[in-house]
Amino acid sequence: MRKFAVIGLGRFGYGVAKTLTEKGCEVLAIDSDEEKVKDVSNFVTHAVQLDATDEDALHHVGIQYVDVAVVSIGENIEASILIVMTLKEMGVKEVVAKAVTPIHGKVLRNIGVSKVVFPERDMAIKIANSLAVPNILEQIELSSEYSIIETTVPENIAGRTLIESGIRDRFGVNVIAVKKRVPTITESGEPDFVEEWNVSPMPEDRLEEGDVLVLLGPNEGLNKLKKG
Ligand code: ATP
Repeated sequence: MRKFAVIGLGRFGYGVAKTLTEKGCEVLAIDSDEEKVKDVSNFVTHAVQLDATDEDALHHVGIQYVDVAVVSIGENIEASILIVMTLKEMGVKEVVAKAVTPIHGKVLRNIGVSKVVFPERDMAIKIANSLAVPNILEQIELSSEYSIIETTVPENIAGRTLIESGIRDRFGVNVIAVKKRVPTITESGEPDFVEEWNVSPMPEDRLEEGDVLVLLGPNEGLNKLKKG
């Protein structure tokens, strides 16, 4: 399991530390505020109070041995930049950082941050997308050109087999998995549904109303497919 450091335990840093821990990762959580450190100390692997602009203090807690450091400091942009530069100088391979303004993001990218996150903006885009196109359940941007999306079967395709749907031919999009809701009877005799994943769909597999498709392809093709 990869080792992580989370520096700055505001709402974003706290959420990152909690989720990584729940996924079984080793997490070194750092904040200069004693209360913030206390809040995470009962679930993370190590929680330390220190000023992360202090290189010696970072060295002392072994930050150089983590695989990924997440810098989650927004208000004090100067501290955020200084900490990232220190981590890079100390040889931390992967640094992910939160940015609060476009300029902050640009500077972080220029000093070698592998992934810059704008939590509020990113979440706003995600929510707006899901409201604008309600049948899109999940979207992962692989690059500016390609994405993976999870969507319910469009009406005009329901009832057809994968090959008949022409999803690949018409849109250049690959169906990488299909999730079906299969009717079942519970132990107490009630009708219910269970989810069944088909992770290697075949051309003759039939797509039915209510199925969920996981699609990989160019954004242009995915957008056309969404519109039907
Ligand atoms: P969020 O929006 O995620 O709640 P925020 O923007 O309100 O965060 P920030 O200013 O980004 O708050 O600070 C996040 C945390 O980083 C705070 O808990 C703060 O104590 C901590 N922090 C700020 N500077 C340092 C530093 N030099 N060393 C360690 N921790 C720091």
